[in-house]
Amino acid sequence: MPRPAFMTDASSAPAIPVTIHRGDYRRPEWQIPDIALDFALGITMTRVTAALSVVRAAPAPAPLLLRGDGLAAAEVRVDGAVWNDWRMEGGDLVIDLGHRDAARIEVDTLIDPSANTQLSGLYASNDMLCTQCEAEGFRRITFHPDRPDVLSRYRVRMTGDKAAFPVLLSNGNRVATGEGAGGTHWALWEDPWPKPSYLFALVAGDLVVNRDRFTTMSGREVELGIWVREGDLERTHHAMAALKHSMRWDEEVYGREYDLDLFNIVAVSDFNMGAMENKGLNIFNTRYILADPDTATDADFDGVEGVVAHEYFHNWSGNRVTCRDWFQLSLKEGFTVYRDQSFSAAMGSPAVKRIEDVRLLRAAQFPEDAGPLAHPIRPDSYQEISNFYTATVYNKGAEVIRMMATLLGAERFRKGTDLYFDRHDGEAATCEDFVCAMEEGGDIDLGQFRRWYEQAGTPKLHLALAQEGRDWFMDVTQTIPATPGQETKAPMMIPLRLAAFAMDGSGALLPERLATLTDAVQRIPLGQFAARPALSVNRGFSAPVIIDLERASGELAWLAAHDDDPFARYEALQQLMLDTLVAAVSGKADDREAVIGAVGQTLEGAVNDPAFVAEAALLPNEAFIGDQMVTVDPDAIRRERLALQMAIGTALENEWRAILARSAPAATDPSPEAKGRRRLRGVALAYLAASGLEDVPGLAFAIFSQADGMTERQAALATLAHGDSDERTHALDIFYQRYRDNPLVLDKWFQVQAWSQRADTVATVAELAQHPDFTLTNPNRVRSLYGAFAGNQAAFHQADGAGYRLLADLVIALDPRNPQTAARMIPPLGRWRRFDEGRQLLMKAELERILAQPGLSRDVTEQASKSLM
Ligand code: ZN
Repeated sequence: MPRPAFMTDASSAPAIPVTIHRGDYRRPEWQIPDIALDFALGITMTRVTAALSVVRAAPAPAPLLLRGDGLAAAEVRVDGAVWNDWRMEGGDLVIDLGHRDAARIEVDTLIDPSANTQLSGLYASNDMLCTQCEAEGFRRITFHPDRPDVLSRYRVRMTGDKAAFPVLLSNGNRVATGEGAGGTHWALWEDPWPKPSYLFALVAGDLVVNRDRFTTMSGREVELGIWVREGDLERTHHAMAALKHSMRWDEEVYGREYDLDLFNIVAVSDFNMGAMENKGLNIFNTRYILADPDTATDADFDGVEGVVAHEYFHNWSGNRVTCRDWFQLSLKEGFTVYRDQSFSAAMGSPAVKRIEDVRLLRAAQFPEDAGPLAHPIRPDSYQEISNFYTATVYNKGAEVIRMMATLLGAERFRKGTDLYFDRHDGEAATCEDFVCAMEEGGDIDLGQFRRWYEQAGTPKLHLALAQEGRDWFMDVTQTIPATPGQETKAPMMIPLRLAAFAMDGSGALLPERLATLTDAVQRIPLGQFAARPALSVNRGFSAPVIIDLERASGELAWLAAHDDDPFARYEALQQLMLDTLVAAVSGKADDREAVIGAVGQTLEGAVNDPAFVAEAALLPNEAFIGDQMVTVDPDAIRRERLALQMAIGTALENEWRAILARSAPAATDPSPEAKGRRRLRGVALAYLAASGLEDVPGLAFAIFSQADGMTERQAALATLAHGDSDERTHALDIFYQRYRDNPLVLDKWFQVQAWSQRADTVATVAELAQHPDFTLTNPNRVRSLYGAFAGNQAAFHQADGAGYRLLADLVIALDPRNPQTAARMIPPLGRWRRFDEGRQLLMKAELERILAQPGLSRDVTEQASKSLM
């Protein structure tokens, strides 16, 4: 019997910062057309026998390099015979095959899934076994090149205890099953589609399934399955509906059909990210599958729909056409986010969806693009690729695709995507391949546009109106700030949707047009107006840029009421609020009355379009206000935002009360109208609470207790959590007792407390970290407490640095267990440049304290050291 190879340790490679450069890409020297994997499954010991049929792909006689992470090789067999010409280099296995051009390589590895706390590779979650291989987890299962340009057909045999693992799943189709000795059983799966190793998946566990079916446009019958733990089945219906809608939508909008007879989704509690698009076997974080009105908010429902769609759409944008190397990550992620955004827009309200997408971009991507971790959507180098699953690659990447769609128009964009899919089907492609397909399919020159892939930093457009007689012009100056490694920038090609209106009642207008900016300084004619027109720019947020245009509050209020583009109406009101808040924070005169008037006017639409009104009436969040300032003053921002909230709450008290007086829609009503009304009720309650009216805690508690669903319940709880009423304590207790056994809902209990605007939130978070239900083993729980806390600007940036210390303590405690999730907590500390000197010193000291830890992971080392630069 061959001696098995043993896993050497459970942790990742030591932190020697090796930088990988995009320009160093070389084609693989070996291809692997076929792979057979044999798994003898066990929670604490799984034996993997891998048989790789390798074929030389380059003329030079290079040895075969198989990457490994925490694996040991004891024996290698070539064409059935023991082979001695191999060595270990770091964690990798290098096999010298002499002048052979093809061989069958067999290696055994032994792994301990229960010790895999990184949740990368094969790991245990509850009592089930599952995998996460993107980006480089496959090398933690078996030795393999583990690069996305090596595509193989997989045959996977799994054997395991029948009682522990009644369900055995992998990619593709199940081709055979059988019983084995000692209460075991086995299953053999085959995936006919060649795929890179990062799309491999396996699940073994005691699961139940929600079954359904879908007939594709060409008549293929597809069996659908959503696999969850016993007891969760009733909460999978929304995900199933979303899956079927996604399948139909991709056929109708992109002409893309599903290509297997089976499509399975498995929900897993312990998961580093949202979900994973493994071919035919998507694996999801439970929070993006499980939803019912009692336990999930409308936002949670939307999250499920969006992520189910996202992973499904990857079947074409990601799987059928994959990435050549990880620098091309935005090729699949940017495009797929754009696709899921378009899908969600089509399923609900396009205007509201656009507002939400832009809010997320500004909250997560703009700060990234303005800080030490800024990188182009196609990065030039990395140390740890897991650190590049960023808002820039995903969300700015989606904006870049959206701009191409805008420049081309729907029809030519579709020609471009058809060409892209047809030309690169079955290939590992590059961002450049995508742009070329757009150029050819769309008959357009995107030469300058390519800079969006090369340059980091959010472009800023300084706009000024100019007049020559009756002719009006818009003068545009484009600047792009310096970012790490990119001191100077060249002007970008920017599609800017704009319109202009006469506010004088003359009715003169410039109907919407698309201006394509190409120069650093450019003049755009607007037409003839008797007086200065009201300018509506970047309508629909046609480009991910910052607009710097001086507009009087009267002009913004007029646009907030009259602009014919709902997104532009929203923007005008946000800008008005922002101007007022920034003035107040800087001790200048502010125009509170204009804001109150404009919000009051907007509320007149509350009955017809409650969803839009709810979005528009929300004040910009504290971090976004800070982004407008040279030095962020978290305390002044908190104070002035609360003051404005109070003023609006008080002045429009009757309107808010009227909104709450109308009966709430049934929680089981998922229509956009009902969702909008619930959202607006939450906003109304928050404004009343901010106004400090005496009866509000009682009102909030009544809503909390009588709510028939989680949207209203959580909104009321979050409102109470900001205050110090007895109702607050009472509601938190009730909520905890009721949902302590539901992890996803318990996450909300942690979250609302970490979001609280109370002065003692840092202490509360420190206390919650010691709560028996808090654990570092579950990424959702970690994010619900610390992720929410780091987003609570005034609390996290408490002047004494206690918030920074808390987060750094977490990073230090979490890194040995789960470096990927630990590294994701570092960016908030990296924003130090934006704060006063006292806070700067405190933040940098925490980053240095993290870096001084012995044995730090590559993930955390990269993020912390770059954050200090
Ligand atoms: Zn994705």
